[in-house]
Parts: sequence; structure tokens; C-alpha cells
Amino acid sequence: MLAHGAQVQMRPRCRVGPTAPTLTAVGQERLPELLDALRRRGERLTTARYALLAALAQADEHLTADQLSVEVARTHPAVHRATIYRTLETLRRLGIVEHTHLGHGPAVYHLADDVHQHLVCEECGRVVEAPADLFAGVEDTLRHNFGFTMRANHFAIVGRCQECSDRVRPHPAT
Ligand SMILES: [Zn+2]
Ligand SMILES: [Zn+2]
Ligand SMILES: [Zn+2]
Repeated sequence: MLAHGAQVQMRPRCRVGPTAPTLTAVGQERLPELLDALRRRGERLTTARYALLAALAQADEHLTADQLSVEVARTHPAVHRATIYRTLETLRRLGIVEHTHLGHGPAVYHLADDVHQHLVCEECGRVVEAPADLFAGVEDTLRHNFGFTMRANHFAIVGRCQECSDRVRPHPAT
């Protein structure tokens, strides 16, 4: 689909791993915005909601529900584990949080306003973020020909990254 050297902006920001999320300046800026989104929907701000939104805003990688619960337990030990999972589902229902499937493992969560497509390398596990409109053409075709509305970002696109492709099948010197 993407010709070699296509000018698609890819952000190798998204990683999945066991490392603890780090606090980023970007995350700190986003939190007030998220709390505002909750208020605009007429929703209460509970400790669990605050803790989860803070964890999601500050994570520089996608976290599973289990990883998020570990993070919230660290920052807000009084919040029960069951409450964290229930709150995550509430935030999803409110359209503030979304999950995506990067592979065979559990789903990972990110903020719904940060929509993008995931490209997962089956060789090295690297996750690359691509623009959400990557499949705009396919979306149009599906809508016209099948009356089907595609939601491409619910699942990742699997394949082989540039590096792994180069290792398997080196490009001829130019
Ligand atoms: Zn992502
Ligand atoms: Zn799902
Ligand atoms: Zn790879």
C-alpha cells in the first residue's frame, strides 16, 4: 500500500513494553484539557477518573489495563483495583479513552483525541504510528460499495518494518 519512500509522516513514539511510563511535559499540559472534557459531559471527577486520565496523559507508550492499574495503584493507592477497571470502561463509554489491539496480547489504551493508525512489525515488535487518514481511500470504497463504515484504528496493521525488511532482503546499492 505504501510505496517505498512514500512521504507519510511516521512517529515512532508508540512503544509497548514493561517499562514504567515517564512523566512528560506534554502529558502535564493535556491533563486540564481532559478534565475539562469530563466536565463538559456533565460528569463527576472522581479520584479514579483523575488518576487514570493522569496516567494516560503522562504515558509515552500504550498501556494495557493491567499496566494502567499498576500505575494508578502507585500514584493513588486508595483506589481499588476493580474500580480502576470499571472506570476505564466508563471513560471508554464517554468517548474519552479508546483501546486498540496491537497483536495477540491484551488491548492497549490511549486517549480518544489522539487518533492514529498502528503499524506493528511481526519480526521485532516495533510499533509505528501513522496518520489516521491512511486508509481514507479504502474507507470511501467500503462505504460506497458495501455500505460499510470501517474503523481501521481498532486493530493494528501487521507486517515488517523497514529495518527488518532491509535485513531480510537488502536493497541493491544505488
Ligand atoms: Zn497509538
Ligand atoms: Zn477491541
Ligand atoms: Zn521490525
